[in-house]
Amino acid sequence: CGVFGVFNLPEASNLSYYGLHALQHRGEESSGICTVDTKNGKKFSYHRGMGLVKEVFDKEKLDMLAGDRAIGHVRYSTAGESKLANAQPLIFRYRDGDLAVATNGNIVNAPEIRHELEMQGSIFQTSSDTEVIAHLIARSPKDFETAAKEALQRIIGGFAFLIMTNDKLIVASDPNGLRPLVMGRIGDGFVFSSESCAFETIGAAYERDVQPGEMLIFDADGMREDRYAEVERRATCAMEYIYFARPDSDINGINIHSARKRMGRQLAIESFVDADIVTGVPDSSISAAIGYAEQTGIPYELGLIKNKYTGRTFIQPSQELREKGVKMKLSAVRKVVEGKRVVMIDDSIVRGTTSLRIVNLLREAGATEVHVRITSPPFKNPCYYGIDTPDRKELIASYRTVEEIRKQINADSLSFLSDEGFIDSVGGNDGAYNRGMCMACFNNDYPTPVNEESDKSCSC
Ligand code: 5GP
Ligand code: SF4
Ligand code: MG
Repeated sequence: CGVFGVFNLPEASNLSYYGLHALQHRGEESSGICTVDTKNGKKFSYHRGMGLVKEVFDKEKLDMLAGDRAIGHVRYSTAGESKLANAQPLIFRYRDGDLAVATNGNIVNAPEIRHELEMQGSIFQTSSDTEVIAHLIARSPKDFETAAKEALQRIIGGFAFLIMTNDKLIVASDPNGLRPLVMGRIGDGFVFSSESCAFETIGAAYERDVQPGEMLIFDADGMREDRYAEVERRATCAMEYIYFARPDSDINGINIHSARKRMGRQLAIESFVDADIVTGVPDSSISAAIGYAEQTGIPYELGLIKNKYTGRTFIQPSQELREKGVKMKLSAVRKVVEGKRVVMIDDSIVRGTTSLRIVNLLREAGATEVHVRITSPPFKNPCYYGIDTPDRKELIASYRTVEEIRKQINADSLSFLSDEGFIDSVGGNDGAYNRGMCMACFNNDYPTPVNEESDKSCSC
């Protein structure tokens, strides 16, 4: 999912609309914006709907969302249900006013907290784990800021939170910094976003990343910096660098396109293969393919074209839709690949269905050899922090060797990037464990306690 927030800027809903549009790749299932108008009795307004930002909002709807503060959300469901009730921001009555919450990520201990609260009489309205934080805040007799801080201290997981009342806006990142969250400025106003690419769109200047365990409070007095947790281990999600984030975003000061290019170069060093052309699976693997081509001297070509009007395959809920999606989405360029030995660069193999289809597309278009190079280590373990992954038993690399996967995806050769090669390609955070990244889906070393039995279903 993606979150976007605005503090102290006129037309906050319009800014959110453009911000969320820039984050659309993070979720295409539902979108929503909630505003507070401090010039008009701190009135709350909101609108949410199923679909893309441009489908859910039009000028009329945005005009109804008056205000100078806003939080917004784009969602993709993971194991969770795809329905309007789970569209965010979630809105609640809170004391004499309102409370809105938008999250990117997943709360690992949400089922336990939920059960405990239900036993004490709470009635939950959604199946989203984001609702847990709202209940924790609402049940506390303390002031909102203290209640939010204590609620954040109870939850475990990977999350970026935007929490808004009529008076305050709280912005928080999980204690390991698993999910990205950046802050920008426009004059005296602030904007918050899952990714910095949204700042270019709206002309905001990047200020800084929200730090792990940090909690920023914005109200009539301006900004206060606080923290609800000490950082024991910084663990930014590796998949953000590999696949999820847009190439024009920076995370922890590292540009995504440049990091992917280095991954491609490293892959060429680790697993060179002689071929006629290098091609990347659009969009996420183009940068890495350019890197692989530069390193080897094999020309980079557009062997595959993506139809930009279909959504990201992985994000569509059912396997059946996913399988239909790939053909709708990608075409091989026959004149480019015909009679050629092709190196095909992709970011990851999760179930293995996508790679098989793409290899076959290239072969059907006349490629004589297809060598698959993956810019991440084998994806063996499920994610509990909000990246959509199936159960362990469906992760092809968790039960097959590289050679078995190669056969299954019909490739002439297959190599993955090594853990060390990947970590050094991203760079930054010198001396930190894994250079400050979570690598759990590759190495099973989760930065927080997780419960294999527990529900991975994510609020976003
Ligand atoms: P699969 O191997 O499951 O058929 O699909 C892998 C493809 O799905 C990758 O090439 C990538 O584009 C996309 N993908 C990989 N990992 C993830 C992930 O964690 N979440 C989502 N939403 N998509 C992913
Ligand atoms: Fe990201 Fe993998 Fe860690 Fe999940 S387990 S947060 S996908 S690196
Ligand atoms: Mg892909």
